[in-house]
Amino acid sequence: MTSKTSKSVGFEQHDHDVCLEKAIKAAEAYCDRFKLQFTPLRRKVLEILLEEHRALGAYAILDLLRESGLGSQPPVAYRALSFLVEHGFAHKIERLNAFVACALPDILHSPAFMICRKCETVVEAQSSSSSFDLSGTASATGFKIEQTTLEAKGVCHSCAEMA
Ligand SMILES: [Zn+2]
Ligand SMILES: [Zn+2]
Ligand SMILES: [Zn+2]
Repeated sequence: MTSKTSKSVGFEQHDHDVCLEKAIKAAEAYCDRFKLQFTPLRRKVLEILLEEHRALGAYAILDLLRESGLGSQPPVAYRALSFLVEHGFAHKIERLNAFVACALPDILHSPAFMICRKCETVVEAQSSSSSFDLSGTASATGFKIEQTTLEAKGVCHSCAEMA
């Protein structure tokens, strides 16, 4: 039962430089393979999202882009974001109306998130298909699932300790 679950990163202490580098490398390799352009702006938006394991709203991303001197217009930033989401380098957290970099760039997955309501850390977990059986119900009713996102809200370990 435990074999497929519990791959997550973010709440626990870890070498974040490794996450960052791994995600950028994975995006580079993916774009290379599918002949997509990993433009400086797209890279910068991904770097901004990778800075912390935290979801950022589009406006916060725009502010950081301006600070970095890329001075982008909103439509340009939105296009870069939708590129990242479309290709799985980032995910949209509907509940927060915000974006987070993918923490599992080298694995094909349906994103599942744990969101700390206190520090707003977002941790992505690899969802195991056994955690909820929507697919069975879907095929029984003829519903074709295109995307499944699991978002769990709660309190992380370190915030719980501070309380
Ligand atoms: Zn990290
Ligand atoms: Zn992901
Ligand atoms: Zn927390």
